[in-house]
Amino acid sequence: MRRRAADRDACAWPMPSFEARSSEADRHQVIIVGAGIGGLTAGALLAKRGVKVLLVESHNRPGGYCSCWTRTSARGGSFRFDAGVQDFSGLGERGPIRHLLRALDVEQRIEWRRVRHFYKKDGLGFQVPDDPAEMVEALGALFPAERAGIASFLHEMAAVYRDLYADIEMTGGVPMPPATLEGMLIWPSTHPHAWRWMKRPFTEMLDTFLVDPRLKDLLTTVADYITDRPDTLSVADMAPLFGYYFDGGAYPVGGSQRLADLLSAVIEEHGGQVLLRTRIKRILVENGRVAGVESAIGKVHRAPIVVANGDVVSMLTDLVGETHLTARYLEKLRAMRRGPSAILLSLGLDRVPDLPARIFVRQDGLVFGIGNPSVIDPTLAPPGCAAVTLLCLLSDEAASAWRRKDAGYRDDKDRFADRLIAATEASVLPGLKRSIIHREVASPPTFTLFAKTRNGNIYGAARDQWHPRIKSPVPGLLLVGAGTSTGPGIEAVVVSGTAAANLVTAS
Ligand SMILES: Cc1cc2nc3c(=O)[nH]c(=O)nc-3n(C[C@H](O)[C@H](O)[C@H](O)COP(=O)(O)OP(=O)(O)OC[C@H]3O[C@@H](n4cnc5c(N)ncnc54)[C@H](O)[C@@H]3O)c2cc1C
Repeated sequence: MRRRAADRDACAWPMPSFEARSSEADRHQVIIVGAGIGGLTAGALLAKRGVKVLLVESHNRPGGYCSCWTRTSARGGSFRFDAGVQDFSGLGERGPIRHLLRALDVEQRIEWRRVRHFYKKDGLGFQVPDDPAEMVEALGALFPAERAGIASFLHEMAAVYRDLYADIEMTGGVPMPPATLEGMLIWPSTHPHAWRWMKRPFTEMLDTFLVDPRLKDLLTTVADYITDRPDTLSVADMAPLFGYYFDGGAYPVGGSQRLADLLSAVIEEHGGQVLLRTRIKRILVENGRVAGVESAIGKVHRAPIVVANGDVVSMLTDLVGETHLTARYLEKLRAMRRGPSAILLSLGLDRVPDLPARIFVRQDGLVFGIGNPSVIDPTLAPPGCAAVTLLCLLSDEAASAWRRKDAGYRDDKDRFADRLIAATEASVLPGLKRSIIHREVASPPTFTLFAKTRNGNIYGAARDQWHPRIKSPVPGLLLVGAGTSTGPGIEAVVVSGTAAANLVTAS
């Protein structure tokens, strides 16, 4: 508690009170840099609450890693691929995304379909049941000696999960322990399961109830969605991911772009402005506080509050500038380790694989995920065809070896892609190679180019370390997105955007 209080004190600047909405085109109440889902969430909530918002994005569409791109195959017909996200958590009754859509009054404007999971790890297959009540039976059938332990583990994890989200209506869509000392003091007695486990390693929770390493490995599978180092995760990191079992994962009909487009539309419908194809080169700090932003072509937009979405270290060190940060904060920023990057293979197939929408594989030394969203949304590909992705995480160190200018870069990408295709054929999809009519490979430099993240990291920062809080030490500057304390994944960045909007409008 002392640590949390000290952290808060470092960022204890008062939120500026807004002047009346200015009619000057370049004066805004809040400017958001980056239209990732963190920035879009903050922007949509603020616009809906009557704040004059400008959102600036360098790409030609909103969404960051939650967007889509299309390609026409040589044989004709258009494929829509997701830049990243294909499986959304946080849509249960108390889920942060559900809460956001309700707060914005747009729940009916997006259609979600259930994403089913299948695991194939070194030959061991597991079909995740739709109904969480069937999880014990399904896992117990594979590990009969551990049936009682599985039941106890899932029972306890469900209780942690319920505790974490119990107060979401009262905390304005942010499933977190309260920030006040009084709130913190009663929280342990009202949320005993979360209090007991939250800070403890997830491996410790598994070891408490279970024995077989293959079983523990199965129950760690979804950690792939936030890290390449599941051994470093706490129960607080993993519990939200168990939402994929307790409430189910979902995919928006039309592709991940649908959510980004919807949030962007909400901003504009409420008088806000979304400026695409505009890179911000500086966040302006004047007289010790944020004053606005300057675009790459030198256009200045002014506002007393700036919300920075995107690679958090780059935003602070390159856009704000190190001179505006204290030595202690800078030291912590510089010490931050990055999360993983990835190889992402996007394939247009001439058939729809008879597989669920999400498959997690370990085969021939490769750990990777297969996205098969066409099985639940046929509009992503021409009739009878499918848009399929293969995603293999790379550690930050491994990612550093990928350099676009290296002579063998293209060949290395193709070789890696061939290995992934071969492992997919050997594990779950024989004959895959013959079905490919379009193929594209993204590597760490592609991710750097696409989302301006250092070393092409796709999940922000590594989990087991200090992360910048949403309220930065620079007065008027808020930070949202995967690199902040809420972490990666759409549900988490929605939480960061919601928390930022709540901070602004609480003033
Ligand atoms: C391959 C892949 C698969 C994934 N799968 C899932 C999944 O299934 N489920 C899930 O929940 N999560 C998934 N994730 C993680 C999830 O996509 C991210 O955690 C989340 O989208 C990050 O959102 P963000 O708000 O941090 O912004 P980002 O998506 O990082 O977007 C930041 C935006 O800011 C813009 N920007 C940056 N700098 C500037 C600047 N100077 N000026 C203007 N604009 C700027 C960028 O162009 C970008 O659009 C996946 C990620 C990847 C890459």
